[in-house]
Amino acid sequence: MSPVPLSGPESGETVPGGGQVARYNPARVYELVGTVPAASPEQVDRLVQAADAAQRPWAATPAHERAALLRAAADTVEPHLPTLAELLARESGKVLADCRGEIGFALTFLRWVADRAPGVLADTEVDDTAGRLLQRRRPYGVVAAITPWNAPIILSLLKIGPALAAGNTVVVKPSPLAPLTIDRVVRLLAGALPPDLLHAVHGGTEAGAALVGHPLVRKVAFTGGDRAARHVAATAATQTTPTVLELGGNDPVLLLGDADLSPEPMRRLVMASFATSGQVCMAAKRLYLPESRREEFLDAYLDAAREVLCLGDPLADGVSMGPVVSAEAAARVNGLVENAVARGGGALPLGRVDPGTDLRAGHFVTPTLLVGVPEDAPVVTEEQFGPTVPLLLYRDESDLVARANAGELGLGASVWSADEERAFALARRLEAGFVFVNTHNRTGMSLRAPFGGVKRSGYGREYGDEGITEYTQTCVVHAPAAFRSGGAGAAANAYPA
Ligand code: NAD
Repeated sequence: MSPVPLSGPESGETVPGGGQVARYNPARVYELVGTVPAASPEQVDRLVQAADAAQRPWAATPAHERAALLRAAADTVEPHLPTLAELLARESGKVLADCRGEIGFALTFLRWVADRAPGVLADTEVDDTAGRLLQRRRPYGVVAAITPWNAPIILSLLKIGPALAAGNTVVVKPSPLAPLTIDRVVRLLAGALPPDLLHAVHGGTEAGAALVGHPLVRKVAFTGGDRAARHVAATAATQTTPTVLELGGNDPVLLLGDADLSPEPMRRLVMASFATSGQVCMAAKRLYLPESRREEFLDAYLDAAREVLCLGDPLADGVSMGPVVSAEAAARVNGLVENAVARGGGALPLGRVDPGTDLRAGHFVTPTLLVGVPEDAPVVTEEQFGPTVPLLLYRDESDLVARANAGELGLGASVWSADEERAFALARRLEAGFVFVNTHNRTGMSLRAPFGGVKRSGYGREYGDEGITEYTQTCVVHAPAAFRSGGAGAAANAYPA
């Protein structure tokens, strides 16, 4: 059966009937990058059963041995980094340097988990006048990981690493829009581990639903959009399987009156919105600026964008922004910009274009800064997930927090100020899981800082110690003092004193 393009002119999802998932290059839509086998529900079932059978012996392996195996698994991926990065760039449209960075960061994360997990997961025991209390962290069993296309390696390893370290086994279903590189990474990792600890299954909603609803799956870790999340949570609920949901954001950037608008922070701010063509959950998605600094800001921002933003083929030298992932994504983002302009806004094109790239060959969208857009325009109220960002002005700070907190999403935010105390005080009032200070997006990430949303941006955390304990349940063994040898005893059925 010939593969069907997922993002080209004949866009489809998976080839029906257990065929291939094909991925075409979003920068050159007729170029087939590769295929992976699409999993039928029967194949999903077989792999979940195998993962379930492997889980108990894995959980019984001491935590430091599991950690050593994970470190060795990370080492097997490392030599392949250059070829993996190129494959990721061709299937996702992300620029080569970002792809290298993502895979390198994912391996660093895996090693960090291996170092950290044995201590974080260790039993705790107290023995005192109240009795003896043992608390241990028990793995769930088989974890299903459902991941999006925009950072398939790190977003999969954020689940795979902690879940395996804690004694779970994992079946991951990547997005059909970027299945190729993660498939290779999973194979490399799995090859360095005992059999059946880790598998990948491919396909769209059918494969995802078969995995999430499988009775042997004990926990579902999902990263993606709100619509899919509701289906995933509902399917998981049919088996009362717990979920962790990492969803979209509409991150506000609060530039205070004393924010530094010099070139270096401005370059950081531009990339905070336009890295991966704006298709990042924690991208800077709304810019709030004091009205008095409008002209100064526009000059500085447009200059910085000319320096750091170059639209073109992700594999070309000097390109910092590739296409968006699909024709649908391009149409959606262009629609948001057109709507903003129709409502009286202005769209200022940003950056440069690589002269060697034929922009008509792929899903390229001109990056824009939107000015004069009403606050109720969809580009302000919704996650744009693409290369455009609205600039919104404020006169005084009285309603700034309310405007920043408006809406249902609460993933990230940032406060930019010369006064760190003031920035931290304001940050505490923001409804966001992660507030950056004087930066935003990937330059502000930290392995030790738990990441996740509030409100409709999801629940549960990745990164940090919480990102490890997320894959365990605390179980207790308790001998109350009253009933231990020599204890005072108590009346039957009495509450403890
Ligand atoms: P998506 O929701 O379309 O797909 C995510 C995954 O869910 C894919 O693997 C998809 O095949 C699968 N899926 C879809 N429907 C399903 C169903 N009914 N049952 C089981 N699986 C199903 O997301 P996307 O377009 O790949 O990614 C973009 C979204 O992800 C954005 O909203 C972005 O903000 C969000 N995101 C969030 C984070 C975070 O950490 N919070 C990180 C990256 C992306």
